[in-house]
Amino acid sequence: MTWKNQALLHAIESKPYEACGLVVDDRSYLPCQNIADDKINNFVLDPNGWIIADNLGEVTGIFHSHPDCSPQPSEGDVNSCNSIGINFFIVNPDTAQWYLLHPK
Ligand SMILES: [Zn+2]
Repeated sequence: MTWKNQALLHAIESKPYEACGLVVDDRSYLPCQNIADDKINNFVLDPNGWIIADNLGEVTGIFHSHPDCSPQPSEGDVNSCNSIGINFFIVNPDTAQWYLLHPK
């Protein structure tokens, strides 16, 4: 199974909440806890996820889901992506539509 299939399954299982995780070395998916107060409309990656991912390899992407809307990035997504400087992968669990956001 590709990391994208794993991430999509994670997004489906996490409904109605946003799922989030880290992509390691462009090929592995590490599911992380969403520790946001409002998990329906937001995600905050559990800092422990970063520690685990760093031990597995290089973090090459940040994944989260938009359970309720298109995978089009929000303004907050664009800002986070630019400030962290890592590709953002967003999926809608119902349509399996992806959006890849590159940092500027
Ligand atoms: Zn988002």
